[in-house]
Amino acid sequence: MQKILEAILEQADSATFAKLEIPKTYRAAHILKSEESIFAGVPSKDKDPRKSIHIGEVPVPELAADECLIAVMASSINFNTVWSAIFEPISTFGALARLGKESAWAKRHDLEYHVLGSDASGVVLRSGAAVRSWKPGDQITVHCNHLDDQDPSAHNDSMLATNQRIWGYETNFGGLADLAVVKANQLMPKPGHLSWEEAAVNALCNSTSYRMLVSKNGAAMKQGDVVLIWGATGGIGAYAVQYVLNGGGIPVGVVSSPEKAKILRAMGCEAIIDRRTANYKFWNDDDTQNEAEWRRLGKDIRALVGEDPDIVFEHPGRSTFGASIYVVKRGGTVVSCAATSGFMMEFDNRHFWMRLKRLIGSHFANYREAFEANRLISKGMIHPVMSQVFSLEQTGEAAYQVHQNLHEGKLGVLCLAPKEGMGVTDPELRAKIGEQKLTIFRRAK
Ligand code: NDP
Repeated sequence: MQKILEAILEQADSATFAKLEIPKTYRAAHILKSEESIFAGVPSKDKDPRKSIHIGEVPVPELAADECLIAVMASSINFNTVWSAIFEPISTFGALARLGKESAWAKRHDLEYHVLGSDASGVVLRSGAAVRSWKPGDQITVHCNHLDDQDPSAHNDSMLATNQRIWGYETNFGGLADLAVVKANQLMPKPGHLSWEEAAVNALCNSTSYRMLVSKNGAAMKQGDVVLIWGATGGIGAYAVQYVLNGGGIPVGVVSSPEKAKILRAMGCEAIIDRRTANYKFWNDDDTQNEAEWRRLGKDIRALVGEDPDIVFEHPGRSTFGASIYVVKRGGTVVSCAATSGFMMEFDNRHFWMRLKRLIGSHFANYREAFEANRLISKGMIHPVMSQVFSLEQTGEAAYQVHQNLHEGKLGVLCLAPKEGMGVTDPELRAKIGEQKLTIFRRAK
């Protein structure tokens, strides 16, 4: 692995990379099938990813013709890392078993361990025989839409493919490791002005927010739209705020602390609600919601921006969903990609149908959307929202922080990269953008 790292640091040519020996095993953050039940009976919040995520050597898998083997310089924690590590809402070993039944190559994924991670930046080490666009030595980032594009359902919008999966969550060989296996159509050029870890944190959350807000497959936001964003300094919310501001919209950001409100203000978001101070009680008890509290949220939004939201960027799920459907404008759109607090939603349908509202389900992004979102990062029009950087050994701790909502924005993870700040190949663009914009989320050390 040392030779691989040296070649990356020297920015060796393609021929040199192609000749590098590939080790038999590699270091990876993984969970174990034998531990699927370790949290049985434990409340969700107390399930601890530090207990279930292991760091250790695993074998390097054989490479299929449409795949690349990449050296991972950095990766990131996504909420799906937490879901896998606490085996909720289902164990991801079930997904690996189902994938394993699809083909001889897919069978490789069905193992007793699951290498996690749905983001990565790094360098291509090997390209399969059918790969056209990428060669050893290319500096890349990875998006997590994993699918077999020989299936007709994968065309038009590949997120509708029947075999669509999230790499590193519903597949094995993910990015929280020194090496990773990806389909060639997951690769995108690494933005040159970013370090390895800054480049690694974007693809999953940035592409998801792009589809939810900008794409015609999502809410297709237009200039002047008021957009209510839950978790506005969280992983997806922090990119959503940027998309709304870039697109001439008016973000109303919801956060839960003065520190997060300060970050939002630095991003240029003026309308801010601190949900902890407001202390909304949307639920009276486990079964009954409180419409007066939905109305109070609506009033707070009107007090800030003078009107109801055209779009609600929804992901907390059960705790906020009734309120989101209620406060969105007549004819407005709630776009949802998740349900962190619980997935059985309840809302008052009278407010929905009588006011002709729309609900859009959204999930990650197709290759085109991910590429367009990555292009905006590369041009310095959307910025990484990384607050802290962890070593691969600290993956469990980083996932714990996300699970307990102790973080802001994204948490980067160094894999092969020996330290932070390496990998910038376009210092001119970086200087033009300015460190301040690139580091709004960085916590003081
Ligand atoms: P983060 O934890 O980084 O951010 C989410 C933020 O939401 C939190 O920081 C918190 O902000 C806010 N929040 C959490 N719970 C509640 C609640 N009960 N009520 C109101 N606000 C709440 O996670 P991500 O942004 O990365 O992901 C959010 C969700 O989206 C996860 O469930 C994830 O799995 C899912 N997801 C889905 C994707 C898809 O493709 N379908 C892609 C990416 C993420 P605060 O405390 O400041 O209010």
